[in-house]
Amino acid sequence: MDSEQLREYGHQMVDFIADYYKNIENYPVLSQVEPGYLRKLLPDAAPNRPESLQNVLDDVQSKILPGVTHWQSPNFYAYYPSNSSVAGFLGEMLSAAINMVGFSWITSPAATELEMIVLDWLGKLLKLPQEFLSPGHGGGVIQGTASEAVLVVLLAARDKTLRRVGKSALGKLVVYGSDQTHSALQKACQIGGVHPENCRLLKTDSSTNYALPPEIVSEAISHDISIGLIPFFLCGTVGTTSSATVDPLYSLGKIAKSNDMWFHVDAAYAGSACICPEYRKYLDGVEEADSFNMNAHKWFLTNFDCSTLWVKDRNALIQSLSTNPEFLKNKASQANLVVDYKDWQIPLGRRFRSLKLWMVLRLYGVENLQHYLRNHIELAKYFEECVGQDSRFEALSGMYTLRFAVGAPLTERRHIAAAWKVLQDEASTLLGAPLQ
Ligand code: PLP
Repeated sequence: MDSEQLREYGHQMVDFIADYYKNIENYPVLSQVEPGYLRKLLPDAAPNRPESLQNVLDDVQSKILPGVTHWQSPNFYAYYPSNSSVAGFLGEMLSAAINMVGFSWITSPAATELEMIVLDWLGKLLKLPQEFLSPGHGGGVIQGTASEAVLVVLLAARDKTLRRVGKSALGKLVVYGSDQTHSALQKACQIGGVHPENCRLLKTDSSTNYALPPEIVSEAISHDISIGLIPFFLCGTVGTTSSATVDPLYSLGKIAKSNDMWFHVDAAYAGSACICPEYRKYLDGVEEADSFNMNAHKWFLTNFDCSTLWVKDRNALIQSLSTNPEFLKNKASQANLVVDYKDWQIPLGRRFRSLKLWMVLRLYGVENLQHYLRNHIELAKYFEECVGQDSRFEALSGMYTLRFAVGAPLTERRHIAAAWKVLQDEASTLLGAPLQ
């Protein structure tokens, strides 16, 4: 890396990015291109000779940005939030600059130790039970995504159970979630060798606001045991993807415990809000869980990717995921003095992701982060109010609906008002008359 070239190009790139954010509202939120548009615009092969950064940036402006869906636009309300921030961005920059591969403590001690400290900080903000923090048998780790988080804990749970009942029982293992649980659970089952018929996505309905009723879980478990199957994993959700429903963690956790099952809580989307004391109640019962996950890259101003996972028993992860080839051996690891995060995840290599989360926590401070979350909740309530004032619309969940997810960092009340106007105008066109 040539420092002077970095200085020159870096400034140019930062200016480009700053202008992008300045003008972000002018882009159509959803990319308007047709499939295959880019191949027509770019050459068939990589250039033999170096090009100037300016040429590349010109292409980004004219050819790439039209094919971008602008998740950071204040007018983005699809899927779920995927926050960026100056702090998160600077952390990413620093991580790219240091560019170490921190699979073991020895490969960059600061990376492992900062990750442990920052996850303890965040765990304390969420008021997670002490067992999830690093001084005991548990601890936190940053995964790329919530899908990886549920996969690694499912593997740990699977192997823990197989050590108890014998390896040949793999085909009898059963997993439980609800029809609202994120599809990442199903994918984890596929990868983890759980028989496709043994992934139970139990039906929910409006009588429990789409939360998973504990009685239904108990009944399913009892039935499976009676036919010789082995329940081993239950996934509860705090903030389901489609309607932000919260499963009854305490009761589900008790059921899991009394059946020797692993209980995972997926709060990927909504977990961030629980750093506000008034929303912490949604995590009540997390003390019964074996693992807990929240995506800082969704609604916590931390650029993608940063999925924070805590476990009570780190050895369960390590027993499933550790390998110890000769070339990775070192004194600190062999003396068991350190955490080697390679044994808590699928890949060997890992990025210095904790830097960006650390920078977010430090450059905002807890008070501002709480304010940020509360503001989004207020904006969502404002939208609900708008809907309530127009008799042609109804705020509901669980059937074919228009879903409106507030959470982009730049969104203000005026953006919500503009989006509501679009919806009202469309309704007037569809129904043939404006609201009286
Ligand atoms: N769990 C919940 C509740 C989610 O909302 C999502 C994302 O939509 C996921 C899991 C999957 O997240 P990721 O993309 O980090 O795997």
